[in-house]
Amino acid sequence: MGKLTDQQLERYRRNILLDGVGPEGQERLLRTRVLVVGSGGLGSPAAYYLAAAGIGHIGLVDGDQVDLSNLQRQILHFTTDLGRPKIESAREKLTALNPDVKVTGIFRRLGDDNFRDIIAGYDLVVDGTDNFEVRFLINRACVEQGKPYIFGGVLAYSGQVMTILPGRGPCLACIFRDVPPREAPSCSELGVLGAVPGVIGALEASEAVKAALGIGEPLVGRLLTYDALTMRFYTVEISRDPGCPVCGNGAVAAE
Ligand SMILES: [Zn+2]
Repeated sequence: MGKLTDQQLERYRRNILLDGVGPEGQERLLRTRVLVVGSGGLGSPAAYYLAAAGIGHIGLVDGDQVDLSNLQRQILHFTTDLGRPKIESAREKLTALNPDVKVTGIFRRLGDDNFRDIIAGYDLVVDGTDNFEVRFLINRACVEQGKPYIFGGVLAYSGQVMTILPGRGPCLACIFRDVPPREAPSCSELGVLGAVPGVIGALEASEAVKAALGIGEPLVGRLLTYDALTMRFYTVEISRDPGCPVCGNGAVAAE
């Protein structure tokens, strides 16, 4: 990868000005490959800010089509996109925003048969899914492959985010030992305020950029919760569980 072009120096000027980024940091972002799992409420703002920041390769995994009820919060998709695969709609917007970014769309759900191989092609993973089973697959693969995983979730008026850096703090299975039962409520039942995934997705993007650059203090071992109704952010400290089935001392890597 060569030096930044004049166009890139201009486009990324406000990144480059930042202490801790500079031209070298920007070149590093352009070499970074981020997988965003899900192109919905969280994946839309996260992928948007990652593309704008000049993350060089963004992978999108989503097996859904754009539905009218998505548009209240999934800001990469427009009314004219109804019925299109979300990855196509998302790729079009991200590429229009920043032609420097290579966007790879994977039109399927992340599942048992493919998660390790898909994640192997990326440097870090951003969570834009609404599904805890998928999150546990991401968590497992990221622990096995030693890759950062930015966890995010939303429900109703609140959202959560945490960064998992394998070897440096707890993983998802240290906090939620198992996939929550099917009866757990979802956004399709309780609703979600559209700006809440906007906030959480933007936080995920900033954690991903920090992880890519190795700067700042990552949200490791601190589960951040945002409550829009009371407009409060609070964090809960979480320790790594030595008995964790995924990252614990006696963990068996593969099932
Ligand atoms: Zn763990």
